[in-house]
Formats: sequence, C-alpha cells, structure tokens
Amino acid sequence: MIVQLIDSMASDLNVVQAAKVSTLGEASLQTGVSEGLIKYLMRERHASPFEHNVFRFYIEAPIFVTREILRHRISSINEESGRYRVLKGEFYYPPQSRPLRQIGKTGDYQFESGEDLWDDTTAALKQSYDLAWANYTELLNKGVAKEVARMLLPVGIYSSMHFTINARSLMNFLSLRTASNAQWEIQQIAGKMEQHFAIDMPITYAAWVEYGRKSI
Ligand SMILES: Cc1cc2nc3c(=O)[nH]c(=O)nc-3n(C[C@H](O)[C@H](O)[C@H](O)COP(=O)(O)OP(=O)(O)OC[C@H]3O[C@@H](n4cnc5c(N)ncnc54)[C@H](O)[C@@H]3O)c2cc1C
Repeated sequence: MIVQLIDSMASDLNVVQAAKVSTLGEASLQTGVSEGLIKYLMRERHASPFEHNVFRFYIEAPIFVTREILRHRISSINEESGRYRVLKGEFYYPPQSRPLRQIGKTGDYQFESGEDLWDDTTAALKQSYDLAWANYTELLNKGVAKEVARMLLPVGIYSSMHFTINARSLMNFLSLRTASNAQWEIQQIAGKMEQHFAIDMPITYAAWVEYGRKSI
C-alpha cells in the first residue's frame, strides 16, 4: 500500500495565527508560534484554528480500505474509476506479519498471529483473484462494458485516490483509524499519515498526543 504526501499547507504557525485573529485582527499575521496557545486550544477543544491546515495524499490501497477512507466525509476525495478505465490486475495479499486469527465476540475482537493460516489464506486469495481476473479480461475482450465486467472483481483489488483533509479532520481520522479496533490495513495507512502530521505540525501533534489522541 502507498501513502504519499503530495502537498501540504500545514504548520503550527497557521493554527496560532488563525486563533489570534480574534484578539489581534491584522496583527495576527505578525505573531509567532505559541506552544501554550496550541495546548490551550487542544485542551479546550477550540477546534476551528486547526482547520486552516491541509494535507493532500495520494493513496494506493485495496478497495476494502478505500471504502473505509471514503466514509470520512470531512475531506475531499477523487478515486480511480472502474467505469472509465481498465483496472490494473493488482491484488492485495496480507503480509506474514498481519494477524490472521480472530477471537472474541462482535465489538470486542482480538487478533492473534495465526502464522499457520497464512499459506491457506494467501492460496485461497490467489485462487479467487486469478479466476476473477481471467473472467474480467475475458468479458472485456468480448466487448462487455468496463462498468459491467468490474462487477465480478473482489474487494482485494487495488484502487488509487487523492485524499485531501484538514488537520482537524485528520485528527478525527487518526483517532479512529490508528486505534487497535480498526481494520489492520487502514491502521497502516493512518500510521503513515500520522508521520506527516507529526513532521509538519510538531507542536500540534504533541498536544494531540498529550490530550489523548482524540477527535476535537
Ligand atoms: C472501528 C470502526 C468500525 C466501523 N464500523 C462500521 C460499520 O460497521 N458500518 C458502517 O457503516 N460504518 C462503520 N464505521 C464507519 C464510522 O461509522 C464512520 O462513518 C467513519 O469512521 C467516519 O467517521 P466520522 O463520521 O467521524 O468522519 P467524518 O465523516 O469525516 O465526519 C467528521 C465529523 O463531522 C461530524 N459530522 C459529519 N457528518 C455529520 C452528520 N451527518 N451529522 C452529524 N455530524 C456529522 C461528526 O462530528 C464527525 O465525527 C466504522 C468505523 C470505525 C473506526
């Protein structure tokens, strides 16, 4: 899976300047970074100053992950289309480090390594992927529309998207999607986004961690 930061307009200074306009007006543009103010805003959930920061990511992930990303409405998303292009025959296989065995009940799942299940899991995935891909290309070769042929493809096929999100909404995304109860694959995606957040906005990031990695 790929998470690439294409562009960002993000800094701790943006947060402080946006917050200080309420008391300084035009002089807010000359103000410097204040760790204390950022911590105050985070603690009091005075959230809108964090919205003046934007991250734009390019993501390649299987469709079962892009479907989860798409649920985050406070973002801007464009995804590749199986109606307008022939999809690439690239399918996701869980790495050996990915926990495979699920125990516990709904809402309280635990995952264990399940290394003994890895060969069977990847073999079954390969069998399904190969069959689906053969049927997809056969239908396309017969002249069937892409939007129809794609109906048989599994959610393990890769997709790509541009995902643009402001820092406030990113904190909500990270809070939900780095949590241990989130799908393992989206945890990996969110973890990579979190690294960019920490680099571009180090004081904001530290405050977010200090106050519990919550949505604000
Ligand atoms: C572990 C986990 C399991 C999940 N399981 C399921 C599942 O089984 N089925 C399923 O359908 N979804 C599931 N979801 C998706 C989840 O319900 C959310 O749709 C998703 O996490 C996006 O979160 P969000 O609404 O906070 O984000 P965004 O859509 O980005 O919204 C950000 C914030 O804006 C506000 N907001 C946005 N839209 C509205 C609105 N219409 N009304 C009021 N406030 C709004 C809320 O404060 C929200 O937190 C799951 C998510 C997680 C993390």
